Amino acid sequence: MYPSGTTSRSLLEVRDLQVVYETRLGRVDAVSRVSFYIDRREFFGLGGESGCGKSTVAYSLVREVPAPGRIVGGKVLLDGRDILSLREEEVRKIRWKEISVIPQAAMNALNPIYTIGDQIAEVIMEHELSSKRDALARAEELLDLVGVGGHRLRSYPHELSGGQKQRAVIAMALALNPSLVVADEPTTALDVVVQAQILDLFKKMKMELGMSLMFISHDLATMFDLVDRIAIMYAGKIVEIGPAAKVADDPLHPYTELLVRSIPRIERNRRGKLEYIRGSPPNLLKPPSACRFHPRCPKRFKPCADREPLLIEVERGRWVACHLFA
Ligand code: SF4
Repeated sequence: MYPSGTTSRSLLEVRDLQVVYETRLGRVDAVSRVSFYIDRREFFGLGGESGCGKSTVAYSLVREVPAPGRIVGGKVLLDGRDILSLREEEVRKIRWKEISVIPQAAMNALNPIYTIGDQIAEVIMEHELSSKRDALARAEELLDLVGVGGHRLRSYPHELSGGQKQRAVIAMALALNPSLVVADEPTTALDVVVQAQILDLFKKMKMELGMSLMFISHDLATMFDLVDRIAIMYAGKIVEIGPAAKVADDPLHPYTELLVRSIPRIERNRRGKLEYIRGSPPNLLKPPSACRFHPRCPKRFKPCADREPLLIEVERGRWVACHLFA
């Protein structure tokens, strides 16, 4: 059984997604049977430590997993159409127009030799029969919307601050009114003040544009503040899915629990104690047997190294993969 939405058809349903990287040293199972859904107008978070497969999931949605990665199984259903079985030219029409991706280090994604207006206009002209003039007018509106200001249309990337460049990339992602924006660690390279401004911008986009967002980050505190539901990944698998507020207050999976307890909090810092997760994520060339978290899990017991726990619904909308809940 797959996690599924409350409406008859979710905007996006990912089922049993599997991605491998064929490396010189062997095959890496980067994403193993990952399933989740995103509803219309929903903000969905995908969290977990670096290297757990979050970005690989993001790029699978638009079939742009970088080499030597390969999608080897599963379905990615957008409005019921399986993106993984479409022809390449059909997928090209979906990118930007239906799903757009804000990449990690997005600020560096801007081309230094073109104005930001030209770069946004180019995305519009590539997908729509717009004149350059109309595309630039739309780019100006978008720059206003994201808080850069339409008057910066003719600015080059080096003339903008880091936060403005990030906003310009967000404007580009919104250029064709996609139903889903995927933001891969969009605040990681920014200082805390600019981070907060970008989060406010996403909240404004939710109110004004009604789009869905998949927000990928290792920073759970940020995600709890922004998203409606959250999924936690560990070593290529989803270990917990639930409403963000419930997961923050009462995490079920031992890994999620440790992640939540390692969020710095003022009251905890006064006592001078900050928790952390012992050990490091496994090498996916040789992942641990059964529950991949068992070598680090303080609650492991007999079956954990022998049998893989399945992702099951333990209460309405809350899914967990752990033998403690079987
Ligand atoms: Fe820990 Fe066992 Fe649950 Fe894995 S299945 S998270 S090892 S208790």
